[in-house]
Amino acid sequence: MKALIWKSGGEIEIVEKPFPSIVEPTDAIVRVTMSSICTSDLHIIHGYVPKAVPETVLGHEFVGEVVSVGSNVKKLAVGDRVSANCETFCGECFFCKKGYINNCIKGGWKLGCSIDGCQAEYVRVPLADTGLTKIPENVSYKNALFVGDILSSGYFGAEMCEINQGDTVAVIGCGPVGLCAMQCARLLGAERIIAIDIDDSRLRIAKETALADVIINSETEDTEKIILDLTAYGADGVIEAAGGEDTFELSWKIARPNAVVAVVAMYETNQTLPLPHMYGKNLIFKTGGVDAIHCMTLLDYIAQGKLNTDFLVTKEVPLNDITAAYSEFETKKDGMLKIALTPWVY
Ligand SMILES: [Zn+2]
Ligand SMILES: [Zn+2]
Repeated sequence: MKALIWKSGGEIEIVEKPFPSIVEPTDAIVRVTMSSICTSDLHIIHGYVPKAVPETVLGHEFVGEVVSVGSNVKKLAVGDRVSANCETFCGECFFCKKGYINNCIKGGWKLGCSIDGCQAEYVRVPLADTGLTKIPENVSYKNALFVGDILSSGYFGAEMCEINQGDTVAVIGCGPVGLCAMQCARLLGAERIIAIDIDDSRLRIAKETALADVIINSETEDTEKIILDLTAYGADGVIEAAGGEDTFELSWKIARPNAVVAVVAMYETNQTLPLPHMYGKNLIFKTGGVDAIHCMTLLDYIAQGKLNTDFLVTKEVPLNDITAAYSEFETKKDGMLKIALTPWVY
């Protein structure tokens, strides 16, 4: 089969690989019907992910059809349409039982990192009963593509914010995760969404598709002042989904006293926490990697028409064109958000 691997020098290459087969009784083999490229894939190629194994097939965001299951897979059958979780988790350990699957002692981020991922025609999914979620009948593969990774991350950010009905929530970063966070914040009761970015085309998308009520270009406008004018005390919740040089500082500055600042962004450098300046604000900071445990709930919301991430697909290309798609995704020209990869065309 055709698959995309990366090499330690930062190169990517389409190669011929043997079809994956069941290794553990809890495995399933999935025919990939649609996959996507994630910023984390770029982090791997550029050497920022120490646990990533060179020559591994990239990709962890996908949907597909189950073509075979191991003898101990209980919830899935051949022919099931499934959405994959970006995290592999057991569902039984101390952390999984509390819902903290990102810290599962048997799992973590494996697919497309330490074991072969989904940017291929077929993929082996370990611990398939927890790693795959059946897609409801009226939800298409494209509708479900982002459920297990970026939509989960956006939902995680909104959930961490402990939103109350009527709240004003500010989201820093109008990339795919930020846009998902806006939709989820609205779903969880936010009345006013403020979208912040330095890219006007992304701010426009936030206004048009993620239904942000207010957009602020933090490079050309006085973000703090605008938010204070709008809210009197600052935002009730802030989701930091940008990970830029000064976006962490902005996140606590625009939060009102006693607000939650939910940090879902991944930074490349340390950030400072100037406690003397924020002493009286009594803020709550929550940070971390997504606990993607709500895949079924998110698929139900999509089935009910309450969430829709189709607008994130800027372009669909077959797996044949994946190397060009990587450079297009990385340069992010012309309002590029996500690329959906369809099966190899012979
Ligand atoms: Zn990802
Ligand atoms: Zn576990």
